[in-house]
This record gives sequence, C-alpha cells and structure tokens, in this order.
Amino acid sequence: MQLVNTSLLQSSSFINNEWVSSAGTFPVFNPATGEKIIDVSDAGEAEAVQAIEMATKAFVTWSALTAKERSDILRKWFNLIIENTNDLTLLLTTEQGKPLAEAKGEVAYGASFIEWFAEECRRVYGEVIPTPANSKRMLTLQQPIGVVTAITPWNFPIAMITRKIAPALAAGCTVVLKPAEDTPLCALALAWLAKEAGMPAGVLNVVTTLKAAELGKVLTTHPLVKKVSFTGSTEVGKILMGQASSTVKKMSLELGGNAPCIIFDDADIATAVKGTIATKYRNAGQTCVCANRILVQKRIYDSFMKAYTEAVTQLVIGNGVEEGVTIGPLINEEAINKIKRLLYDATEKGGVITMGGKQHPLGELFFETTIITGCTTDMLLSQEEIFGPVSAIYVFEDVADAIALANNTQYGLAAYFFSENINRVWQVAEQLQYGIIGVNEGLISHAEAPFGGIKESGYGKEGSSYGIEEYLVTKYVCIGVR
Ligand code: ADP
Repeated sequence: MQLVNTSLLQSSSFINNEWVSSAGTFPVFNPATGEKIIDVSDAGEAEAVQAIEMATKAFVTWSALTAKERSDILRKWFNLIIENTNDLTLLLTTEQGKPLAEAKGEVAYGASFIEWFAEECRRVYGEVIPTPANSKRMLTLQQPIGVVTAITPWNFPIAMITRKIAPALAAGCTVVLKPAEDTPLCALALAWLAKEAGMPAGVLNVVTTLKAAELGKVLTTHPLVKKVSFTGSTEVGKILMGQASSTVKKMSLELGGNAPCIIFDDADIATAVKGTIATKYRNAGQTCVCANRILVQKRIYDSFMKAYTEAVTQLVIGNGVEEGVTIGPLINEEAINKIKRLLYDATEKGGVITMGGKQHPLGELFFETTIITGCTTDMLLSQEEIFGPVSAIYVFEDVADAIALANNTQYGLAAYFFSENINRVWQVAEQLQYGIIGVNEGLISHAEAPFGGIKESGYGKEGSSYGIEEYLVTKYVCIGVR
C-alpha cells in the first residue's frame, strides 16, 4: 500500500492528541490477500480510563466554545478528509476489502456527516415556552451531554465513525472511540487529520484494542461517560445496554437488520433489479441495510428473476484495488463460515441454489455471488443477517402476504419495495414496521436523512437534524419574575 501522505498510517491509540502505545499489539490484515498490513496497539483498561479522563478535562473548554468556533474546526477537518480522499480510499480498501469505487464513495459519504453537523450545530435552538403564570418565564436550553463513547463496526470503517463523532463533537461533547479490531486504521487516519485540523487535545480520542469486551465494559460503565453510541450486532448491543444501565447512560443503538425487499407485480422491473442489486450487493452484502430477504410477487416472478439473475452475473469478484471489480472479499473466516452454515440449512429445508453457493477460487475470503430460491420462514437465513453476497428469494401471492412476511422478524431497520402504484406505495410504507423505507430506491442513506431502526434493531437516529439531538440534553429553566 503506497500512501502519498504516509502519516495517515498510524498504529497506536490516540489519546489527548498523542500517539500512545500499549504493551501488546495485534495484527491488521488485508482481507483480499491475507497479508498483514501492520501491528496495532492493543489498549487495555488503563488506556481507556486515561482517554475518558482526558475527554472529561477537554469537555470543559470544548463545550464552552461557540458553535461557530467548533463548526470552523469541523469544517477544516472535512476539507482535509476530502483533500486526502485518494489515500483514505486506498487505506479503506486495504483493511476492509471493498472495491476502490465504493471506498471512495464511503470517504465522501463519511465526510458528508462532518460537513453536515458543522453546519447543523449553529442551528441548535432552545425555545421560549408561553407561560401559564405571569410570575414565571419558561425556556429550554440545549446543551451537550458530556463525554461520549462510541463503538463501531468494520463494514464502514469511516462512515460509521463520522456519523457518531461528528454530531457529538458539533454539539460540544468530547469523544472516546473504539473502532472495530478488523479495521482500526481508518479511525486512526481520521484522528491524525482531526489533529491537523486543529482539534484541541482530548476532544477526540481513539483506543484500538483486541479486548473488545474488556474495554467495552469500561466505556459503558465509567461514571464520567454520559452517553454511549454503538453500531454492531444486536447481541452485543444488548450486553452494552445492560452494562450502561448501571449508571443510566443515554444510548444510541444501531443494531442488526433483516431487510425485506419486496418486488410487487406492478413494479418497473428494470428499476426493481437495479435497486435490489444496489441494496443487496453493496459492500459484498455486508451492510445492516442490505436486502436480506427478496420477496417477489408470483405474477412477475419469472420476468423479475430472469432480469435479476442476468444482473447478478455481471458482478465482478476480485481484489478491490483492481479495475472493474464490484465485489471484494468478505471480512474474515467467521463471515464465510456463517454463509456456509446458512446455505447448508436452507438447502436442507428445500432451498435451491441457482447461482454460486461456494467459496470462490480467488481465495479463502472470497465467496461466489449466490442466488437461492424457494426460501421459507423456517430457514435460518430468514431470521439471521446473511451479511454476504447471497440473494435469498421468497415468493408471495398478495399484498397482505408480503406485509406479513416482511414484518415477521424481531428486526426493524430498513425495508425496500418496488411498486408503480401510488396507493400501494402509501399503504405499504405505512404498514412496514421499519425505521427506514426505500421505495423504488436501493440506496437510502444520506447525511441529511434520519437513519435508525425500531424493534431489536435499536433506537436513536444518525444523520439529519435529529442526529445531533442524540448528544444534547434539554434543560428546562423556569425564571420567577416580579
Ligand atoms: P459484527 O458482527 O459487525 O462484528 P459486533 O457487534 O461483534 O458486530 O462488533 C461491533 C463492534 O462491537 C466492534 O467494534 C467490536 O469490537 C465491538 N464488540 C464486540 N463485542 C463487544 C463487547 N462484548 N463489548 C463491547 N464491544 C464489543
């Protein structure tokens, strides 16, 4: 990996604007080649506590800056990220595996949250409440909640971070971030750029570790931490929720999904194919909003499947740094094993693999683009996130069937459907029990829009004007007047 700005490749935790090594290290691998990129500091409890204490100290001055002053630093950080797009893109593809074009898209998308919240923080308004008593005046202040800890996953090593820390920093909070152990390098590069942008010491801290549970405990229970923001599995989210209850911390949880993608018989087939491919195969199927279940109405089943299969055939598997590649490797062996387990279970229960279905000869972490038809609700893949390049196809008869099937899950993050009928669009959008609905569109996430789930997909919004509220407390002030 040849970076122009070699300073972007860092390998130790970032605490109080200094690079802090730990006693041990852990290796970070390139999933496409299996080669080690670098050894990174394996921080322990002591570093986590130090970071929290530094963030607490920095909160005093950072929260006292004007919104405009914080905005200016965030804007500089945004500009530096954009200037370093090529290096960040390469770093992202090298540690995570997604094709360069997607990685470049993520750099821009990740940076857009910093730009958005740099603007948004200047419009955090309290309100004056009409008084019910002449002897009183009533108003609200919106204030930063305090030290925020953030725990993020590997599938978007830049964007999952900026979606949390940009609104937190904009609001006036300080942050301790623990990135995923598979992809800590983009997080450290972001920290380097933040320092360059003039972020004061202690405002943004990053602890890298292989001891996720041990550090997670500190980050969710330390009394100085006031808010925890987590993106990851529902299983881990529930553990963190339990831990954070000991000190009643505010939380944002962006957890697992089981997105249905419904193709109604009045859909425009070309739009439906394009949208379904976009939501299913982005990041090799490794996003929490990827179509996990593709529901096709019987009447158009044959025509949709013919066009969809053709489109899947066009996808190109390979090392993400190579020209023309659209599907990179999966993140690790566990991901491959999960897909194999889900496909085995589904075929045992009557599913038919019509394309792919095996590991790809390119290497251990590559999996063939796969389509499995005849899927039913008793299969594990109807309830678990596949997180890989596998299209699971279900057939339904009418709208009621589709809604029942789509809502038959404990998850409620994203859902998609394709229909040209405006009445159906309204009715289905209202009946789907999900926090995000894509209608005739497979790519739904933007800094301007509220991203977040319901049910066991968690709560809290990222992006949009709601995103900053997660890091604010509403204080009510009642003034007696004579
Ligand atoms: P995924 O399946 O996407 O890897 P995880 O929930 O396992 O989802 O991981 C998401 C993030 O949570 C990563 O940063 C990981 O290190 C962290 N993590 C995993 N287990 C724990 C835990 N017990 N406590 C705190 N963080 C954890």
